[in-house]
Amino acid sequence: MKEYAVDDIKNVLRPRLGDDVPLLLFRILRIIGMRSILGETSGATLYMMGKRVGNMLPATTMEQFAETIRDLKIGIPQVEVIDEDHITVKLYECITCAGFSYTGEMFCDMESGIIAGMLENVHGKKAKSTQTKSWSLGYKFCEFEVFLY
Ligand SMILES: [Zn+2]
Repeated sequence: MKEYAVDDIKNVLRPRLGDDVPLLLFRILRIIGMRSILGETSGATLYMMGKRVGNMLPATTMEQFAETIRDLKIGIPQVEVIDEDHITVKLYECITCAGFSYTGEMFCDMESGIIAGMLENVHGKKAKSTQTKSWSLGYKFCEFEVFLY
């Protein structure tokens, strides 16, 4: 199976429809489609997928990290550096869960992986991200705890 890079897939030629898709379509694919096919392993699989995607996105500074997350409309990140190897990322307007009502479970694993993958690029270290807050737990933002190692 051929592997594609971002450069291979970025040319969009849709003169009438443009390069935007409704966010609802993304959420149907992401929350209903992927979860129903992947089942109980969906969290870990989506995290690994996100991490791979994050590694493919160029970012060498925290400013580029924040800009890219915002430009791709994954959300609006607010970064807090706790110490050298511990970063907290609040994500406002999260692509996957913003507006969700309380469900008691969190499912922004792909976003968590993207954040970890991009922060690996920025810091030149491995990163592990864990989601700690979500709209689906009653917050108005998502939050991820990232540890570099
Ligand atoms: Zn979220």
